[in-house]
Amino acid sequence: MKIDIVGAGPAGLYFALLAKKHDPSHRIRVFEQNAEGATYGWGVVFSDIGLSFLKEADAAFYEEFIAHHERCDYMEVVHRGTHVQVHGNHFSRTSRIDMLRVLQHACEREGIRIEYGKRIENARELAADCDLLVAADGGNSAVRTQLAEHFRPRFTKRRNKFAWYGTHQRFHPVSLIFRETEHGVFIAHSYQYSPQLSTFLVEVDPDTWQRAGLDTASEDESRRLCAEVFRPELGSNELLTNRSLWFEANIVSNEVWSHGNIVLLGDALRTVHFSLGSGTRMAMQDAIALHKGVAANPGDLPAALAAFEAARRDSSSSFQQSASLSLDWYENVGDKMHLDPVSFAYDYMRRTGKVSHDDLKQRDPLFARAYEALQPAA
Ligand SMILES: Cc1cc2nc3c(=O)[nH]c(=O)nc-3n(C[C@H](O)[C@H](O)[C@H](O)COP(=O)(O)OP(=O)(O)OC[C@H]3O[C@@H](n4cnc5c(N)ncnc54)[C@H](O)[C@@H]3O)c2cc1C
Repeated sequence: MKIDIVGAGPAGLYFALLAKKHDPSHRIRVFEQNAEGATYGWGVVFSDIGLSFLKEADAAFYEEFIAHHERCDYMEVVHRGTHVQVHGNHFSRTSRIDMLRVLQHACEREGIRIEYGKRIENARELAADCDLLVAADGGNSAVRTQLAEHFRPRFTKRRNKFAWYGTHQRFHPVSLIFRETEHGVFIAHSYQYSPQLSTFLVEVDPDTWQRAGLDTASEDESRRLCAEVFRPELGSNELLTNRSLWFEANIVSNEVWSHGNIVLLGDALRTVHFSLGSGTRMAMQDAIALHKGVAANPGDLPAALAAFEAARRDSSSSFQQSASLSLDWYENVGDKMHLDPVSFAYDYMRRTGKVSHDDLKQRDPLFARAYEALQPAA
């Protein structure tokens, strides 16, 4: 098969790798607009469930993929300066750039050509030249935009503001820090992803953002203000920037997933808000499902694409629903700040409705008991 892929993110590269390993006769090209080694952001985090899909799909690559991950089996919710640990939450972290490098090297080893610095402007033209065109070109997908009348994308802009920083302070567990200030609540989502660095994503609601003067602050002024808000946790470490401008989450979904020989994959297909930390995992699960669809239906692309959609549609919608509940929780966190630290952490853990009290009891009996002890006797 002649397969062209737009975008060398985790979705595009992982699909390329699986497809080529399965059938080395495929001619696969990947087009990436950025230069080699250029990427935004800092780290990515995977849950153990997220990683189990990768292990099942390609055990050999999985070992390579996780070789340099940082791991921790608990998380911390920091409220009123109290660190509440919740065990039984296994997270594996790595830098986005290392993750892409591992994928890229594995692809190149299999003979896949990645053309960096090549932005695809005309999806129809490219699709006419191959059997399958995979649009793995991210949340702002140009392919999806060009064919919007077919894919019928929907966008939901959420209200909170985010800025993605790094820091040399090492947050060993995934740490969610909530800080009440004179302007309103600031939230930091942080975790160590390499021996030296942690991701530090700051979230604020639009009113707090404005009251704090962040609407007119420069990138550096914002960085300094956020570092002062979280000074107790950062210690003497500063926040580091990498295009750390304020942005809002734009949640994407598509009514139609493929058109002719063109299929959407990863964030181009659907974004999952990072408060669930699962965008990369979803993108790679898409890649697995598309690969399986193609492998199981040789010479029958419509059947392959139908199998892909059948495998992913339900879990994709269900994840987006959970992400939306998670977003609601963060956007309304002001109403929760009166809770004591344990009840606050408990409320956080149950925010998507997917985790029951019994689940928490199983994961971390001490935490569940601490919460129970705070409840008035019936
Ligand atoms: C602040 C933030 C924090 C996040 N944290 C996490 C996390 O902790 N864990 C997690 O799993 N996920 C996280 N995510 C989400 C994650 O980054 C994405 O879900 C994931 O990268 C999606 O992979 P993808 O391959 O679909 O798209 P992308 O990674 O966006 O890759 C798309 C690629 O296509 C290229 N491209 C775009 N248009 C063109 C074109 N016309 N021609 C050629 N190339 C093109 C882009 O340059 C890019 O390299 C986070 C996202 C954000 C914004």
